Amino acid sequence: MSVTLLGFPWDASSSHARGAALAPAIIRTMLASDASSPYSLSGVDVREAITSNDFTELPSAPKECRKAISARIGAVLSVGAKPLSIGGDHSVTYPILGAVRDKHGPVNVLHIDAHPDLYDEFEGDKYSHACPFARALEDNCIGNLVQVGIRSASPEQRKLAAKHNVAMLGADEMDQIPYDRLKGPVYISIDLDGLDPAFAPGVSHPEPGGLSTREVLTLLSRLPTKPVGADIVEYNPERDTNLTTALVAARLVKEIAAMMA
Ligand code: MN
Ligand code: MN
Repeated sequence: MSVTLLGFPWDASSSHARGAALAPAIIRTMLASDASSPYSLSGVDVREAITSNDFTELPSAPKECRKAISARIGAVLSVGAKPLSIGGDHSVTYPILGAVRDKHGPVNVLHIDAHPDLYDEFEGDKYSHACPFARALEDNCIGNLVQVGIRSASPEQRKLAAKHNVAMLGADEMDQIPYDRLKGPVYISIDLDGLDPAFAPGVSHPEPGGLSTREVLTLLSRLPTKPVGADIVEYNPERDTNLTTALVAARLVKEIAAMMA
């Protein structure tokens, strides 16, 4: 199965800091850099696994942007390839999942994040990067939602999680991940702030007490099903130090591309 790498340079739905729109180009540069290996940990040559790239611009109006993201994911799925997207803020995941649902029906989602992103609206915006999973659940894009690394859930978000039977796990509950709920068509969404800021400082909303890079890689390796698609979001190059977070993002691209191929 071929993998298409997409870049979504969008950060206008970010509530606190811009910068994530700069991420796709930088992560793509890291992937091509001679400084690190093109092979996944399992030995897959990622230059072969990723058969095409889509790094075109997006419209600047939010609604048109979401439409464009859905259309581009739909185009990848329609030719039988799998989309691996680099955000952008986390708002991009809702239009991605809409296109994935149109192809596969509701998918089970592994969501790594410090935040549940289950607000019905945030600062008046129902499509904020704090809301994508609320929108995706109400649009029937998701079967089981398994969230890992959460350390900022408000009562409102806990209530919505309970309503939709969301498995919401803290970073200290790695031994309780319900892998059996991640069978069938599964989609992976990784917000880099799910990792500890020690490993991924380049994010807009750092929350200490998060996952290590190793823990995320181990979690991915234990997934029972090959993912049908994935995204890696919220990398903010303006907050990064020495490209540390870009390197983590590039590693995750390699591992997930190898899993999908
Ligand atoms: Mn987050
Ligand atoms: Mn998020």
